[in-house]
Amino acid sequence: MKLTVVGYWHGYPEKGEATSGYLLEQDQFKLLLDCGSGVLSNVQHYCQITDLDAIVLSHYHHDHQTDIGTFQYARIINKGMGTNMKEATIYGHRDDPKAFAKLEYQNVVNSQEYNDQSSLTIGPFTFTFKKTQHPVPCYAMKIKSQDKTIVYTADSSYFSELADFAKEADLLIAECSGYETDQVSQYGHMNSRDVGLLANQAQPAQLLLSHLPHKGDHKQLQSEVAKQFFGVTLLARAGLTFNL
Ligand SMILES: [Zn+2]
Ligand SMILES: [Zn+2]
Repeated sequence: MKLTVVGYWHGYPEKGEATSGYLLEQDQFKLLLDCGSGVLSNVQHYCQITDLDAIVLSHYHHDHQTDIGTFQYARIINKGMGTNMKEATIYGHRDDPKAFAKLEYQNVVNSQEYNDQSSLTIGPFTFTFKKTQHPVPCYAMKIKSQDKTIVYTADSSYFSELADFAKEADLLIAECSGYETDQVSQYGHMNSRDVGLLANQAQPAQLLLSHLPHKGDHKQLQSEVAKQFFGVTLLARAGLTFNL
């Protein structure tokens, strides 16, 4: 499977960029993990909006789902223009029924619920979910395809079961919302020290730091993580691609 970073900013996008969004592809199947602000504009560097088969939302905070409305409008406008489109489904949890109810749209976007009790097949991918520690219900995801595994923490403060869930992934996408002295766990986020601990326990083949703060030099996050995790650690940037 191929993963491309579309957006990686915490909270709001910097100029011309996007908050959380990752394009996952295999065998012509195209899926977005989260769909934050700026994702729909920026994903068009890599594919057509109408080629997206699915979007899987970790939670309903703006920086992870703002562009859902944009996606719905793009679908209805393209339908009106007679564009040849695949079916599209948005997957979300139903812990917030009102937010879930807004995913489906006018026969151009379907919705489907996921939960942490059972795995879910989406195209060529098998998803399992783990509820995180965050101010609103949020789910980390483990995605398997053939013999490869990606784990995405989504938004969460550190807890040891998250490290168990992430064990031995080929790629661990970890949110890293602050430097080691930033107190972010009270807001349901991890700083670089928390991510170092998580990765030390999970031992992924590659670690990707994402959901990055709007300050400082992000290279410092890498060196802070490296105090506890000695494996490959990369910083998210738009267009960064992993072929697993
Ligand atoms: Zn959040
Ligand atoms: Zn977030």
